[in-house]
Amino acid sequence: MLEIGKKEFWFVVGSQHLYGEETLGEVIQHAQEMVDSLNASGNLSYPVVLQEELAVSADKITKIMKEANYRDEVAGVITWMHTFSPAKMWIRGTKLLQKPLLHLATQYNESIPWATIDMDFMNLNQAAHGDREYGFINARLNKKNKVVVGYWKDERIQKEISAWMDVAVGYMESFDIKVARFGDNMRNVAVTEGDKVEAQIQFGWTVDYYGIGDLVQYINQVTDEEVDELFEEYRQLYDFDYGDYESEQWESHVKVQARQEIGLRRFLEAGNYNAFTSNFEDLYGMDQLPGLAVQRLMAQGYGFAGEGDWKTAAIDRMMKIMAKNQNTGFMEDYTYEMAAGKEAILQSHMLEVDPSLAANKPKILVSPLSIGDKADPARLVFDGKSGTGVVVSMADFGTNYKLLINEVDAFEPQEAAPKLPVARVMWTPKPSFHEGIKTWIETGGGHHTVLSLNLTVDQIETWANLVNLEYVTIK
Ligand code: MN
Repeated sequence: MLEIGKKEFWFVVGSQHLYGEETLGEVIQHAQEMVDSLNASGNLSYPVVLQEELAVSADKITKIMKEANYRDEVAGVITWMHTFSPAKMWIRGTKLLQKPLLHLATQYNESIPWATIDMDFMNLNQAAHGDREYGFINARLNKKNKVVVGYWKDERIQKEISAWMDVAVGYMESFDIKVARFGDNMRNVAVTEGDKVEAQIQFGWTVDYYGIGDLVQYINQVTDEEVDELFEEYRQLYDFDYGDYESEQWESHVKVQARQEIGLRRFLEAGNYNAFTSNFEDLYGMDQLPGLAVQRLMAQGYGFAGEGDWKTAAIDRMMKIMAKNQNTGFMEDYTYEMAAGKEAILQSHMLEVDPSLAANKPKILVSPLSIGDKADPARLVFDGKSGTGVVVSMADFGTNYKLLINEVDAFEPQEAAPKLPVARVMWTPKPSFHEGIKTWIETGGGHHTVLSLNLTVDQIETWANLVNLEYVTIK
């Protein structure tokens, strides 16, 4: 499900006609060598494609940018100024470009060749000169482009480009995010509300409401054979924890979730939805609150959030695209550990914790749920991984959306919790437990978040800049 269409990035080389054809011939040769080497490095998430038409006139630049806009597979443009390239030529094309732009401030040669350097060399290798002229016009146009500075063979630089590529693809794919909401928001909850029209204008998300009956119909059409087949798949993937249940009774509870999983997926596929929300208050005609079913769909790349929280579901889907569905998922702040030196927050949800964050093999557990007034739902239980991560929350402040970004240190829980029937993730916010939480609360950050151990604060800020979204970073 997470699969997205083929993506590539165009490599556009700036120059001008002033230096003569021989120099331009060298420019394109060097650019080809750089592009080949970048693609062969194994450090880039997506391929770079050299535009053999050099950016040497306003007409040519405009043509390249229009073409980049038109082609669905182009997720962004990387520009490089081998020589000086007068920036008035770039105005029209840059204004037209509707895709993420990265200005790679690098040069072909790593060091200055003191023994041989002459004016011909200087005319060819003048990125330092060209970068400033080109950078000025991007700044003046308020292009929100990324600037990466360093030698192109340096692995650190290649990884920086790759991190931006992941954001660019997330940004582009964001326009195809479709959230199906089964039921409305949880009654009386404030932070999960928001202006859906504005979200579509600003971020590209389509958010559609459905009554539970529409979904129940799909679930009821699933056959027993299909359920049995999926149950066998569960047996391969997870440990079964029967607890105090008779095995037959336990299996029947788990199979309710298998039926929900198949029904949910069919419903989402039929409408091209890649994210969804549920609400434990809206379960008419359903036997259990979807738990295991939702967790399985999260693992397949669907964005999700509980209680009708479509904003978090959409962000979840987008961050999963950026992180290639690794170690990224919906989360909720639950309980503090306040003992000095051990301060942390226990993260979980009533059932739906993303198994992409599991440090150990998940087990299926059936347990009563005190809210929702339905049968005991099955869920996957596991401990979360450790690592430095980023936590994101978005809220509607009436006149504008605001994003909260917090860097956190996640760690595997030290002690067993035999009576806790849900997956758990632990983290300590940066810069410290007290300061991090204080700023989060003061700024109005929500209790629903998306955690990623694969993405960085810088990547989330880059996306926020691309969509003109106000953000507060706590780190
Ligand atoms: Mn919740």
